[in-house]
Amino acid sequence: MLGSLLLGVSRVPLVRRAVSGVPLTRKVVDRFVAGETTRDAVEAVRRLTAAGLTATVDHLGEETKDAAAAAQTAGAYAVLLDALSGLGLGDRAEVSVKLSAVGQALGSDGDKIALENARRICEAARAAGANVTLDMEDHTTVDSTLEILRALREDFPATGVAIQSYLFRSEADCRDLAHEGSRVRLVKGAYAEPASVAHQSRSEVDKAYVRCLRILMAGAGYPMVATHDDRLISITETLADRFGRSRGGYEYQMLYGIRTDKQQALAGAGHTVRVYVPYGDDWYGYFMRRLAERPANIAFFLRALGGK
Ligand code: FAD
Repeated sequence: MLGSLLLGVSRVPLVRRAVSGVPLTRKVVDRFVAGETTRDAVEAVRRLTAAGLTATVDHLGEETKDAAAAAQTAGAYAVLLDALSGLGLGDRAEVSVKLSAVGQALGSDGDKIALENARRICEAARAAGANVTLDMEDHTTVDSTLEILRALREDFPATGVAIQSYLFRSEADCRDLAHEGSRVRLVKGAYAEPASVAHQSRSEVDKAYVRCLRILMAGAGYPMVATHDDRLISITETLADRFGRSRGGYEYQMLYGIRTDKQQALAGAGHTVRVYVPYGDDWYGYFMRRLAERPANIAFFLRALGGK
């Protein structure tokens, strides 16, 4: 409830300006964001991989309303991937891309522009030996994102996608995507969605997550189980046993700075654990979704504002 309210308010331009302008915010943001530059992102990946983890790096930004900025974002990914491959990290680091950051929100040509820019990122990823996963944004973008995924997969078959369990449609999407070679990141979903398209209660979202997870674990693709929820992690282990999936047959994913103890524990037990590493200066949308996920984060933010 508090979370949806915060997500709603976060879209008001005045709130955006106020939060972005608070001097202390940067310190608070650093808890969830690796830094602003390519160098910061590479350094974070270096630290994570040295600790036995893997990474997927997100250049922050979304809902770009300008074609030049969309192309610039694709360029930033190319620079990042080159830097990662220069360090020999290509296979341990992939990238995550929000299509709205590379042009999807640019009106009638949006899908075409996003596909061209995403293709450019996939080419850079191929040269670096890395994969690309498309993030999933609000429900109005799902059809377009899956269409762009299909087009990309013709040339870059390892391209993955995130599916959000809170959407009613997602079980059917998981069935379509549970095929050989398909990489699917299953998440609960982080946007404020209406009751006409999405489960509203935590327990319904969790139950839907288990149904989607079962489809993916039983299928022939590669499930990427993106959650910090202990209960869902233990259900994943039960399903892995039931469907005879070895540790290399699926992976866990968690967000930078969240449950780092659990990330290490799972990696220590022999699992692939991929940490989602956001970097860049356009941190507002990402940061507000992290605050909305957990009331305690809002308290942390407010305490920082009060100087404590
Ligand atoms: P929850 O029930 O929210 O959390 C379980 C526990 O994890 C909490 O009790 C708490 O201990 C901890 N926790 C969770 N969130 C936080 C937080 N913000 N701060 C501190 N502790 C926390 N969503 C999308 O809509 N599209 C995407 O493309 C997408 N990509 C993602 C990629 C990755 C790798 C991950 C991990 C998440 C992604 N998400 C995405 C976000 C996701 O939808 C959830 O909002 C988020 O993961 C919280 O859900 P949870 O499964 O961890 O469960």
